[in-house]
Amino acid sequence: MSTQKFQIPEWAFEFHGHKCPAMPIGYRAGLTAMKRLGVEKASNKELYLFCENGPAHAAACFLDGVMASTGCTYGKGIAEKLNYGKNAIVLVDLKTNKAVRVSMQPAFFEKALNSEFVKLRKQKVEPKDIKPELVMPLIENVEQMDENVMFSISDVFEKNVELSKGTFEWHNCSKCNEIVFDNRSKIIDGKRVCIPCSEK
Ligand SMILES: [Zn+2]
Ligand SMILES: [Zn+2]
Repeated sequence: MSTQKFQIPEWAFEFHGHKCPAMPIGYRAGLTAMKRLGVEKASNKELYLFCENGPAHAAACFLDGVMASTGCTYGKGIAEKLNYGKNAIVLVDLKTNKAVRVSMQPAFFEKALNSEFVKLRKQKVEPKDIKPELVMPLIENVEQMDENVMFSISDVFEKNVELSKGTFEWHNCSKCNEIVFDNRSKIIDGKRVCIPCSEK
């Protein structure tokens, strides 16, 4: 057995833009969900992510971590925000239609929200301006903590997800000449127009 301690990869912090504890919590939530489903990080569209968070501090950061560990990104069209204002995710294996919900344990979340880090954030100190001596122990704590202390993990359940269909079909917009994919263009007076041009 390896004695190497788990660490959030540096690239995930680079992607996120700063060091904070919420992104690593999301990263581990994604890992926990994948482990329960017995799946690997999505390289294409193998998984689908419903993130229950919405506009709140410490929520956007959480979602970046989940996207980093699961590979469920907005770019690939396999991530969706439900805006429930909760740090919880539902991860779906699109091959088997099996899903799991992972949510932050209230006791753990409450502790995090009462941390010195969050107190400073409330005083409008940006994460990048908070001393590493304060942030790094919080991150290490998240890296080493038992997933069952951090999260409530549901049983595996069935969930069907309809992915919206992509297309390779395209035309030049008859007004602005830019290339627009057919499933997002309109036909006005027999001519293809992009959505912004159709609204002018
Ligand atoms: Zn952050
Ligand atoms: Zn146009």
